[in-house]
This record gives sequence, C-alpha cells and structure tokens, in this order.
Amino acid sequence: MSLFPIFVKLEGRRVLLVGAGPVGESKMGGLLSAGAVVTVVAPEATPAIQKLAAEDKVLWHRREFEPDDLDGMALAVAAVPRDIARAVYREARTRGVLLNSVDDPENCDFYYPAVVNRGDLQIAISTAGHSPSLAQRLRIQLEEQFGPEYARWVEDLGAARRDLFAADMDPEVRKQQLHDMVRLHPEGGQAPGVRTGMVYLVGAGPGDPELLTLKALRILGQADVVLHDDLLTPEILELIPSSARVECVGKRHNERQVTQQEINRRLCAYGAAGQTVVRLKGGDGAVFGRASEEMDALRAAGISFSIVPGVTAASGAAAAAGVSLTDRRLGSALVFLTAQRCKGNPPPNWKAVAELGGTLAIYMPGGHEDDLAGQLVSAGLAADTPCFVVASASRPDEQVVETTIGELRGLPKLPAPAILLIGAVAGPRTPASAGNEGSAEKANKTDRSH
Ligand code: SAH
Repeated sequence: MSLFPIFVKLEGRRVLLVGAGPVGESKMGGLLSAGAVVTVVAPEATPAIQKLAAEDKVLWHRREFEPDDLDGMALAVAAVPRDIARAVYREARTRGVLLNSVDDPENCDFYYPAVVNRGDLQIAISTAGHSPSLAQRLRIQLEEQFGPEYARWVEDLGAARRDLFAADMDPEVRKQQLHDMVRLHPEGGQAPGVRTGMVYLVGAGPGDPELLTLKALRILGQADVVLHDDLLTPEILELIPSSARVECVGKRHNERQVTQQEINRRLCAYGAAGQTVVRLKGGDGAVFGRASEEMDALRAAGISFSIVPGVTAASGAAAAAGVSLTDRRLGSALVFLTAQRCKGNPPPNWKAVAELGGTLAIYMPGGHEDDLAGQLVSAGLAADTPCFVVASASRPDEQVVETTIGELRGLPKLPAPAILLIGAVAGPRTPASAGNEGSAEKANKTDRSH
C-alpha cells in the first residue's frame, strides 16, 4: 500500500511524545518549530526536555504512559522500547491518533521523511522505511542542488504571486507569468531540473574556423537554433549540427532585411520556448555588434544568457599583417573605432584620437576611407602615418595592403569585410621584430618584406 504524502499544519495542535530520552529529544525540535503544543510522558527526561518543561514550553507528566494520554492528540510520537511502543500503538489506533514509533516501522502510522529545509521550501523524501540511507543520500544531493538561496526566493515568489492575483489581469497571462517566474535560478542562472531556454551570444572570430574558441564550438554543438549574421564563413556554418534550425539574420546581404528588433524578438521567443539559442556573430560579438541591445531585450524578457567572447577582427587583421596591435616602443594606446555611427551620435573626437598616438583599428571603413583619411590628417596625424588595409583576415581570400593614410584616398576598394590598422605598428618593422613565422608567408602579399 502506498503512503499518503502530506505536509501537516501542527500550529496549536496537541502532540504527545512518549519517552524523553535522547531519541525523544531529537523529535522535539521539529514539533515545536511547527508550533505544536507538546505533552511529554516519561518517568525520566533529558536535561534539555527538563529545561523546556521548566520554561513551560512543553508539559511533562513525570510517569509511565497511560492510554488516556492520547485523548485530544492530533499526533503522537513514541520514543520508547518496542514493547511499550506496541502498547502505545494499540491504544493510538483505538483512539484514531496517528503514531510514529521511532525506528520501529511495524508500530508506525506515519514516518519521518528525510527533509531538505529551505525555509518554506521543504522537500521530503520517503522510502516507506525500506532504506533510510538512500533517503539520506538523496537529501544530501538535493541540498546541494537547492541551496539556502531558495528560502528567500520562495518567499519572493509568494509575494509576486500574491501581487499577480491582486492585479486585474487576463488569467492566461497571469498563468504564463507564474510559470515564467520560476524559470530562473534564484541567483540568475537556470533553475535546476527545469528545461529553460538559454541564449549564448557567441563570437565566432574573423573567419578561420580554427579561431573559434573551444567553448564556442562546444556550445554550437548543443544549439537548437542558431541566428547568425552575414560575416560568418561557410566553414564555420558547417560546424552547426544539422539538427539545429539555422537563420541568417545578417543585415547586409539579406534580401528581406531583418531588423534588430526582430532579431531581439526571435532571441527572446526561442529562449522563452526553452530552446538553446546561439546568436553567432563574426569576431567578438561585443565589439560593434549590437550585443548590448540584444542583452537589454533578453534581460527585459527574463531570459538567461551567457556571453562567449571571440577573436575580434582587429586581432585577426594584425595577425594577417604580421604585426602586433601594440608595441610598447611605439605607443601605449589601442583604439577600436568605427566609421559607422548610430544616427544622432556625435562623430569621434578625431583630435583626441590623433593625440593618443597609439594604434587605431577602424572597423567598417567601407566607403568612408577618403573621409576618414581627411579627418585624421586634419586632426593632426601625419599623412605618411602607416596604415594596413586588411580584407577577409584569416580567410582564404585574405588580403593585406600596406599604405599610408595620405594614400588611402586613391586606393582601389578592397572587398568587405575590411579593417584599417593605423599607426606606427603598421610601419617598417625593425630586423629584431621581423621573422614572425606565422605571418611571413602572408606578408608576402604586401609589398614590404618583414
Ligand atoms: N564583431 C566584429 C565586428 C563587427 S563590425 C568583430 O569583433 O570583429 C563588422 C566589421 O568588422 C567589418 O566591416 C570589418 O571592418 C570588420 N571585420 C570583421 N571580420 C573581418 C575580417 N575577417 N577581416 C577584416 N575585417 C573584418
């Protein structure tokens, strides 16, 4: 026969404890914290129980058990030798009082479960007495899984639930919100055991699939949905599992442009539907990638997300050109800039940029090269400041053109994506800095030998 699991309100109810040795004492705390009014019957009692009696926290009859002790009791617990327990059990049954005899399943109506206590969240485990050890092991596992933070969270959920019921709203929407609230872990991650969506904002690097991080590759392998932009190379797209739904949401080459709002909406919708979503972007997603807007939308929708950084184009371009992005002998600044601006934003302070005097990596220069060169020269950079134009860094069609900002104007346009690296690091290398094995071969594409 299966047991009937219940959580009982004992506040103000009378409970009898027969026996006041250490075992009886161990049962006292739980009864008192549930608000039970405890009567103890025993000829002897432990000092702790004597103290409770002296403080009027329990009533102690200093004598042997008598059947009438059970009268008016909601529950009874016997912590006595088996022969006495048997008698107590018989009397309890006659009077309809439920009894637990500690460690004596035969003389029990109810068992104490192993309990994970997290405030008002209580998880009780029973093996119907078959294996208290298994119950203990499961309790320990559950305690690890559901940490102390759940106590507070359950209270907060209760308050939020009451607010939702007080509000005048569509019951379906309320139901959805009640479900959504418990998707997150109290500390922000995923709730254990709940299949909740997760959005990974993954940087895929400049194009060479070997420049994906191990983490990016692992997460890509778990994706249910991949939303990628159009900087992604076919070699990287091939790494997406065939089971995943793949959507190109690139803003450039799409016949029907997908707006940023639409991308945000899809990320949230797939996340809310419990999917593992990968938002795959070229380079590092957090560099000129509108990642902030996506994160804002995800935060607002309460969808968990995680950022996986990638190798940004400037790093890929420097490697292609065989230079370091910084060289302490030449300067101490590295500025990432873009020639594109969000409507309404002021242009960069070119003068301040020129004065910094380090390396400039200019993303998305396409079509603005003349303008850029003009701005930089009038801001004070010498026209002969060295400049690399690197197109398709790390890809099979990689091209590196070495020039100066003065000569940028007349240069034939390189195919996108291209980036400019400007500054002394793009200038002539000293013999000591030559011999970069990895880039020697690529550097041959330029006119200058390393
Ligand atoms: N998040 C990306 C940048 C996106 S903006 C990153 O971290 O790299 C897009 C611009 O990045 C392109 O216009 C180009 O300037 C640059 N870019 C991206 N991939 C590139 C590549 N393989 N070679 C050269 N430039 C690249």
